[in-house]
Amino acid sequence: MESQKITLPVVKPCVSFWQQTTRSFPYLHTNKNNPAPEDSKYVIIGSGISGALTTYELIQGGVPAGDITIFEAREAASGASSRNAGHVRPVTDIDAFRGFQVYKQLHGPDQALKIIANEKLVFERVRDFVDKHGVQCDFNPTTTFDVCMTQEFADFNARSFKEYREAGGDVSHIKLYDGEEAQRVTRVQKAVAAYEWPAGSSHPAKLAQWLLTQCVEKGVRLFTHCPVTLVTKSASSLPDRISWDVQTPRGITKASTVVHCTNAFAPHLLPQLSKFITPNRAQAHAFVPPASLNSSNILPSTMSLRHSLKHFYSVAQRRPDGIIILGSPIANPNISSSAATSRLVPDDGIFNEEVRDDAVSNFETCFPECEKGKLSHGEGLLHTWTGIIGMTTDSVPFVGRIESLPGQWVCAGFNGHGMARIFTCAPGVAKLILGGTWDDTGLPECFEITEERLERLQKGVPGSVF
Ligand SMILES: Cc1cc2nc3c(=O)[nH]c(=O)nc-3n(C[C@H](O)[C@H](O)[C@H](O)COP(=O)(O)OP(=O)(O)OC[C@H]3O[C@@H](n4cnc5c(N)ncnc54)[C@H](O)[C@@H]3O)c2cc1C
Repeated sequence: MESQKITLPVVKPCVSFWQQTTRSFPYLHTNKNNPAPEDSKYVIIGSGISGALTTYELIQGGVPAGDITIFEAREAASGASSRNAGHVRPVTDIDAFRGFQVYKQLHGPDQALKIIANEKLVFERVRDFVDKHGVQCDFNPTTTFDVCMTQEFADFNARSFKEYREAGGDVSHIKLYDGEEAQRVTRVQKAVAAYEWPAGSSHPAKLAQWLLTQCVEKGVRLFTHCPVTLVTKSASSLPDRISWDVQTPRGITKASTVVHCTNAFAPHLLPQLSKFITPNRAQAHAFVPPASLNSSNILPSTMSLRHSLKHFYSVAQRRPDGIIILGSPIANPNISSSAATSRLVPDDGIFNEEVRDDAVSNFETCFPECEKGKLSHGEGLLHTWTGIIGMTTDSVPFVGRIESLPGQWVCAGFNGHGMARIFTCAPGVAKLILGGTWDDTGLPECFEITEERLERLQKGVPGSVF
């Protein structure tokens, strides 16, 4: 199995729509020029939703905020958490009930059921969290449609749905529409069938920034533009109490607990993961709708427009401003092989024009009133950006204690599903750090980073042991 040398995130990323609309966040460049502290009991690496929520949960669990330092390579929350397509549901080839077949092959049927149940739970957790704390992140609890654009895909989805249900999967929350009814509920004229279930959308940067604000205002030290370049065993470690030197260009911080929340970039500091986490570039677009899709006509639900398993697009229209966010698949049969392989370059400072044109053209086909000739100046494509997602060999994240590095923990490798996973994984890793057991996390067992899992992946057999 080939491993790739994973670098740090690029220093000059593009600015996403989410970042464009939150440039006044006061902690964007906090401690940009200050030296790193000499000591900090806890160091969190990465300030995306994983890092921010892990920190938040540690504080909730009783850790004094002043004992925690967050290091972020670029501006605050500048990774995938501020660059996605705004969904609180996974949108990939293996999401929702469709994921069952793949997860079953990789992790066995029981784990597959737990993985999918976890996605539903995360939506409920985000919804309840935002509600309880009044988080201003444009959260829209709604439903989402899987819109089948071809009979072939409708048949595939029907088989996946049946298999999931027959294995005991909960389908009580999923509605199915066929033919004209599917076209009516989705407003997509060429829809063949549609599945609908509860999901949400949010302004992901505002969510990450809200979490960071809570942490910083309680006393957490956030160091932005301060990449961690190496974590080594501290010379002052005791045999039964290891501490770690967290090295940055602005000094070394000694810590007993280090949490890697660096998603696609985790292998830079944990080279043992370099064969198992691969950075992939994903792309998204903001679109200003014409009258048929604005004001009282905005799309009430999010959707995924599915032509085939690997050929799909996401659509989420924002309530506050009506902007439509279009997400492009990682690779799809409609684009050239050079455009498809450009996703392997982990540089979110650039985007691919062919991927952009394909996403817009697909949207125009599904909503013909959005064709270029019919739009007024100022309507249509507003912005394009990219972000880096972390794909894992066995399609599930790495969460928990790194057995070979006592005191180091990881919460990374979200396979483009972080918005549908982090709200259980980050609280899970915080519980473990605070002395809880895996059972306390409620997470599927296959998410745990164990030596046994790494050895199995090393042998190239991602198969199940459960
Ligand atoms: C275009 C796009 C569409 C997406 N669509 C969906 C979707 O529909 N549904 C879904 O569930 N998810 C989706 N995702 C994925 C989701 O956004 C991610 O899974 C999630 O944001 C990961 O959060 P994180 O905190 O783990 O990682 P990130 O937000 O990437 O945060 C990691 C942070 O670590 C920092 N960092 C890395 N290395 C170092 C270092 N050595 N030192 C210091 N800092 C470091 C980075 O700069 C970054 O800020 C999408 C992502 C993209 C880009």
